[in-house]
Amino acid sequence: MRIILLGPPGAGKGTEAELLVKHYHIPHISTGNIFRALYKDNTTVGKIAKEYIDRGQLVPDDITNEIVRNRLNHADAKKGFLFDGYPRNVDQAAWFDELLIQKEWKLDAVINIYVPDEVLIERISGRRVCESCGAVYHVTNKKPNVEGICDVDGGKLIQRADDMEETVQRRLRVYNEQTEPVIGYYQNKGAIVMIDGTQSIKEVDTAIKKVLGEMN
Ligand code: ADP
Ligand code: AMP
Ligand code: ZN
Repeated sequence: MRIILLGPPGAGKGTEAELLVKHYHIPHISTGNIFRALYKDNTTVGKIAKEYIDRGQLVPDDITNEIVRNRLNHADAKKGFLFDGYPRNVDQAAWFDELLIQKEWKLDAVINIYVPDEVLIERISGRRVCESCGAVYHVTNKKPNVEGICDVDGGKLIQRADDMEETVQRRLRVYNEQTEPVIGYYQNKGAIVMIDGTQSIKEVDTAIKKVLGEMN
């Protein structure tokens, strides 16, 4: 199964992706997670990406697209994939269409999780992530068993630098200007599913699985 999850920052893409990939046994490909891992590993690309991420801007397309191309060359992507946070502008979407043609692959679903801005701000400001494994929590909506500690590996929970208020406003602007048009791009191609992201984590998961079940 090949799926793209669209939605603004804080919509719940990463949270839902984790549930979906366990169910469908496909890799979760988050360009944001890949950039953060490359930075943690002290790579040049990671350092360049971090400059854009910390300013709330998109990482340039040439860097991002090559990362996606490389990731899809890994053996596990033969089973399919779930993209979270890619494509993030219309040029990336068009580039990715070309790649799909080259690979003779077809997408099974493009899913857009929509959530109003005031809810996004509440979700992003309360988001905490594990410093070591990246697992995502929320101070009220998805609490860990022990405050400040990751359930998975005992890592320390921290706030992402780009989740600070000033950067969040910039990211929402970038989303509206550059990423939202991607919805129209896929609508014109005829296939996109809209999911109400204000529901609970479980309800959103059920709604997405229902749609995917009907498609396959
Ligand atoms: P995205 O990957 O789209 O940026 P996340 O999955 O990181 O979003 O979710 C943003 C924050 O909102 C996290 O703190 C997460 O725990 C919380 N969250 C995700 N989905 C929901 C939901 N349906 N209801 C309430 N909180 C949610
Ligand atoms: P995310 O983890 O999806 O919230 O992404 C965090 C940040 O990584 C974004 O604000 C961008 O700076 C960068 N990023 C992630 N995915 C992309 C992408 N497809 N294109 C450009 N920049 C991206
Ligand atoms: Zn962890």
